[in-house]
Amino acid sequence: MRIAVLDAPQRFRFEDRPVPTIGDGQALVRVAACGVCTSELHMWDGTTGGRGLPRAIGHEVSGVVERVGSAADGLRAGDRVAVWVTEGGFAEHVAVDAAACFPTGDVPLEQALGEPLACAVNAVELAGVALGDDVVVIGAGFMGNLVQKLVQLRGPRHVIVADTRPDALERAARLGATRTVLVGHEPLPEVVAELTGGRGADVSFEATGVQAALTALGEVTRMSGTVVIVGYHQGGERTIPLAAWNWMAFTIVNAHFREVPTILRGMRTGMRLLASDRLELGDLLTHRFPLADIDRAFRASHEKPPGFCKATVVVDGALA
Ligand SMILES: [Zn+2]
Repeated sequence: MRIAVLDAPQRFRFEDRPVPTIGDGQALVRVAACGVCTSELHMWDGTTGGRGLPRAIGHEVSGVVERVGSAADGLRAGDRVAVWVTEGGFAEHVAVDAAACFPTGDVPLEQALGEPLACAVNAVELAGVALGDDVVVIGAGFMGNLVQKLVQLRGPRHVIVADTRPDALERAARLGATRTVLVGHEPLPEVVAELTGGRGADVSFEATGVQAALTALGEVTRMSGTVVIVGYHQGGERTIPLAAWNWMAFTIVNAHFREVPTILRGMRTGMRLLASDRLELGDLLTHRFPLADIDRAFRASHEKPPGFCKATVVVDGALA
């Protein structure tokens, strides 16, 4: 089978490898699509200095079950699934535990992005957004949009979305934001204060991975409110004004999950919402590339041209 291996910064190479063998509790999945994740961009763009390379990255996988082991309960050949793998997703096949496969229903396979969905579901669950809450989402990229969509399922009052990119804010408004704020042109804390009667947001999410947004969380959240860190804060130190956050009695949620059972629980919830049409992702997938053009998929994710939200790599066009 063909697999794309990140050889050096900005350079994938294709290898021919044997189709993976599966254990009793596993399934062999023919990959239909794999999303490009922000967490992979540091490796691709060279920020990490080529450490850990070569490596077969790719973990936002969906596809069709081709074969199952004798103990892979509840799965059958032909099942369409979103799967959780840690790497090797930009390939024609993956071997995966049956417990890490989730049905996609009638959702097109390239939209069945179970892993980022798991992150956003777990962030919103842990944040405990309640009916009628005022919510701020800083960052209107793919993860911010996902968080926004899930927050909206909880029945908030205001959903205020801030970003530095006008095109991203247009999308956030289309998705249902009650107010958008173009950072640099309008002061977010003032907008939030005005809409909440001077109180501040009940829950604020940061989904950018940059320092400025982290700092802004504390300026828009009410006393005893919840601040949620969703962004991927790697590649440099970050600081938070802990004395102020401590005085404000914030609940601080680090929405970065490493425990496999937690990830799988979030993925199960997310895929239930997706497969039942309670949630839709098709409007966020703006860029699509065949496996042979994986370099272009990463370049687009890195450069984020106007209108960009999320790139997927389609491994087998016939399946997606
Ligand atoms: Zn990811």
